[in-house]
Amino acid sequence: MSVALWIIATLVVAGVLVYKRTSLMAFSLGMVVMFAIGGLFDIVGPVLWILLAIALVPLNVTSIRQNFLTKPILKAYRKVMPEMSDTERDALEAGTVWWDGDLFSGAPDWKKLLNVPKAELSAEEKAFLDGPCEEVCKMLDDWEVTHELTDMPEDVWQYLKDNKFFAMIIKKEYGGLEFSAYAQSRVLQKLAGVSTVLASTVGVPNSLGPGELLQHYGTKEQQDHYLPRLASGDEIPCFALTSPEAGSDAGAIPDSGVVCRGEWNGEEIVGIKLNFNKRYITLAPVATVLGLAFKMYDPDGLLGETKELGITCALIPRDTDGVEIGRRHFPLNVPFQNGPIRGNDVFVPLDYIIGGAKNAGKGWRMLVECLSVGRSITLPSNSAGGIKQMALATGAYARIRRQFKLPIGKMEGVEEPMARIGGNAYLMDAVTTLSTKGIDLGEKPGVIGAIAKYHMTEKLRACMDDAMDVHGGKGICLGPNNYLGRGYQGIPVAITVEGANILTRNMMIYGQGAIRCHPFVLKEMEASAKDGSAALAEFDEAVFGHIGFAASNFVRSLFYGFGGYRLSTVPGGNATKRYFQQMNRFSANLALLSDVAMGVLGGSLKRKERISARLGDMLSYLYIGSAVLKRFEDQGRLKDDEPLMHWAMQDTLYKLQEAQLAMLDNFGGVGSAMRAIMFPLGRIAKRPSDKNDHKIARMLMEPGETRSRLGEGQFLSAEGHFGFLEQTLQDMIACEPLHSKICKAAGERFTFTQLDALADRGLELGVISDDEAELLRRTEVGRLRTINVDDFDPADLLAGQAAFDYALKNLAKGEAA
Ligand SMILES: Cc1cc2nc3c(=O)[nH]c(=O)nc-3n(C[C@H](O)[C@H](O)[C@H](O)COP(=O)(O)OP(=O)(O)OC[C@H]3O[C@@H](n4cnc5c(N)ncnc54)[C@H](O)[C@@H]3O)c2cc1C
Repeated sequence: MSVALWIIATLVVAGVLVYKRTSLMAFSLGMVVMFAIGGLFDIVGPVLWILLAIALVPLNVTSIRQNFLTKPILKAYRKVMPEMSDTERDALEAGTVWWDGDLFSGAPDWKKLLNVPKAELSAEEKAFLDGPCEEVCKMLDDWEVTHELTDMPEDVWQYLKDNKFFAMIIKKEYGGLEFSAYAQSRVLQKLAGVSTVLASTVGVPNSLGPGELLQHYGTKEQQDHYLPRLASGDEIPCFALTSPEAGSDAGAIPDSGVVCRGEWNGEEIVGIKLNFNKRYITLAPVATVLGLAFKMYDPDGLLGETKELGITCALIPRDTDGVEIGRRHFPLNVPFQNGPIRGNDVFVPLDYIIGGAKNAGKGWRMLVECLSVGRSITLPSNSAGGIKQMALATGAYARIRRQFKLPIGKMEGVEEPMARIGGNAYLMDAVTTLSTKGIDLGEKPGVIGAIAKYHMTEKLRACMDDAMDVHGGKGICLGPNNYLGRGYQGIPVAITVEGANILTRNMMIYGQGAIRCHPFVLKEMEASAKDGSAALAEFDEAVFGHIGFAASNFVRSLFYGFGGYRLSTVPGGNATKRYFQQMNRFSANLALLSDVAMGVLGGSLKRKERISARLGDMLSYLYIGSAVLKRFEDQGRLKDDEPLMHWAMQDTLYKLQEAQLAMLDNFGGVGSAMRAIMFPLGRIAKRPSDKNDHKIARMLMEPGETRSRLGEGQFLSAEGHFGFLEQTLQDMIACEPLHSKICKAAGERFTFTQLDALADRGLELGVISDDEAELLRRTEVGRLRTINVDDFDPADLLAGQAAFDYALKNLAKGEAA
């Protein structure tokens, strides 16, 4: 054996052992074997053996390793790593790590994902969706809500209360519905397709708020008092955290609660004097009980020695003395109930604290824990419902509306936005399904919740623009006939609430993901915070595990970069195999880049928001891709759905790759070196092709099983806009052969308009039946309703005082006449 061959063989064996993540001992034995082989061929002599011993003995003998290697590393680590604040610690400790942990591992266990049981509805949940949910969609007229009443009508409010829409999360023993997270998501999807006001009103009490907090942390008395009343709708809750001075930085609320003596029901008690000024609080104007977050102080030591107890959550009845409530904000013409709440020296007893006095100061932890669940459900589901409805409506409209003698959806330029809408509808449903299934399995997915919230609302924003573009003026002119405009106006609300999106992307996703999902970072941080020999032993295990992990991801990234990812073993059929393999590659890249970024930037990575955002994008797209593949597998690898799956995977992997490259381009020399390792042969992921876009656009315009699956669960009853559109689409398609028959008989090419006149002509020519003529006439009515927009008497557009003055002027004119 030549020296060169032995060196190559040794490097390959070392690479394989590191790739396979074998133990340090197994790796060392592998090297000893290779050196022994080298010895047989007179390549390895005493000097090399001594060098090998110098390298391996300290690593394998625990006492030497800990004292001579781990100790100095721990010392240096303690110097560079900043101390975690209490709020950061709470955020990290609240919630669980689920599939996000696998994605961070550099070697996701796909079997684990595919073995997650398929999300399904119970018979009761199905009945709710087909019954009360369908019914309330029929009852609601969004134009009446958004333009005439700036509120939902009384009968809709009552219906929601009577049918426990506000009690989906409340346990049955308290009279609630106790639905799964998946079922809640389906309800919100359906409602969001019809009205943003309806979906927001139902979403909020079922998300973070008194109901959720009481069930987890309330005292028995609080639960027995409030939960049945919340379930029946006798109490309407809101939750007030945000203050004018503290929006995104919610931990900095200036609102205070000072422990003091005061009079309560004629007796002197120890209670809390509250002063607060909250804004943007959803449901506040109509709420009967407000969940309030404030900072609690005990200056006189009435409760103990701690003077600053920290953020605390309490339940305050609306009619408590000193509470000012009832005024409304006006959020972007989507007038769900939202407004400020103020309180001046409001004195309440200590047992208003959720969970009682023992929970003073535990509010932040409570909020973060509950937010991770709500954030995975409400806004992602509203967004998925919105896009599913838009996919069907845009497809139908693009077939019905014709220009240049063709349905507009058949123009190549229109196919591109239509494909984005269709592909994202498939993807967003997949993400909400997987995330809510995770919650139903007992997870509290903090990182996944942030990913779902950010990406689903951003995707809805992009797709809403697309839907508006395809609809042209039809989407722009508001009125009872416009089913797009209010949803479009309301998009920034979803972007801003529950963690405004820039912050969510730049700080939360990766900021929490890097520490929570990484297999060793949190362990290192925890060990370094301890004292004594336990700290050293724990840190030693974590840090050497970490080094092996980083080495493995380095080898994987290098191997995958040269195309080796194509050899990785993955599940899935031919259609998805390559996607699973690319995900393996990107997962290894993310794991390696995380270590590099943390190693180079240390604690300052937190402030390098744009690096953090792009690493977060990589993690997010890995999660989104997983959800798409899971959906495709769960639904039995449906051939007809392949264009949607391909679009969703290609768009996701392409964006993942671009986020990674953007991160490397902004990471100086280290970034260039990493680029050479990770992309030695250039880009691997391509954007969705025009050919695939064409297939999706056609599918959106053609009723069929794939299209129905895409819009599954949405409100499509004939009473609503969307059911009417669906019927008109089917009628238009049924009229196409009739149109051809009549043109042929007449020897003339008629435009596809005035179908009622065409019906007369067809009857005259004797080529169509009466029923067919009737179909043509009905279709013309549907076609005109679909393409027409509303117009108004100028007076009808006046609001408030102007409308009143106008009416008075006309009255005066009438009297004078
Ligand atoms: C319609 C509506 C309903 C709401 N309902 C409720 C409710 O029921 N209860 C409640 O308590 N709150 C509610 N909120 C508050 C909401 O949840 C947000 O927390 C809040 O709006 C964000 O604060 P801000 O609007 O003051 O934005 P700011 O905090 O001023 O932020 C402005 C911009 O700066 C960005 N930003 C801030 N900090 C950072 C950072 N470190 N890095 C990067 N970017 C950053 C944000 O992402 C945002 O884009 C509601 C808000 C609205 C608009």
